[in-house]
Amino acid sequence: MKKAVYPGSFDPVTYGHIDVITRAAKMFDVLTVSVLDNKRKQALFSVDERVRMLKEALKDLPNVEVESFSGLLVDYCASKDIHVIIRGLRAITDFEYELQNAQTNRLISNGKVDTVFLTTSLEYAYLSSSAVKEIACFKGDVSPCVPKFVADAVYDKYKDDSRGIL
Ligand code: ADP
Repeated sequence: MKKAVYPGSFDPVTYGHIDVITRAAKMFDVLTVSVLDNKRKQALFSVDERVRMLKEALKDLPNVEVESFSGLLVDYCASKDIHVIIRGLRAITDFEYELQNAQTNRLISNGKVDTVFLTTSLEYAYLSSSAVKEIACFKGDVSPCVPKFVADAVYDKYKDDSRGIL
């Protein structure tokens, strides 16, 4: 059984993430999309909210499951007997950070965990969760970036205008 994990913040899930997930799901028998519960990173949505939005967005992909995890990614992989991490690459700016993470994860897992990169589809090359939040904060149109129910949830977070952009 070929398994992989696609870890990330998904704060919130965007069409860029969904594109990577849809493509990766064709390459593996089971793809686990997992929200990193990172207490040091301030997020707009709680982990539960992010998991719920991902589940809704991915409900038509039968071999994709959604979870959350905390701690070291390689420990999480070991606990699920997963040896492949999926990450998306947008621009060259992603590369250095992703390369470092991939090499570190391979090292600390004694070569058991490798990272597979999928390059972004061109139409989503400039799409990020941060951009979605910034646009929504100023009441801009995020419909090209996220599904409608995600857009509504983001607008709702900013409706009292007091949070600032996260
Ligand atoms: P993280 O905080 O782990 O980077 P993100 O939710 O921002 O979490 O991203 C998760 C993964 O999805 C990363 O590998 C990121 O490069 C990738 N990604 C994000 N947006 C896009 C996009 N528009 N196209 C392709 N990959 C993307």
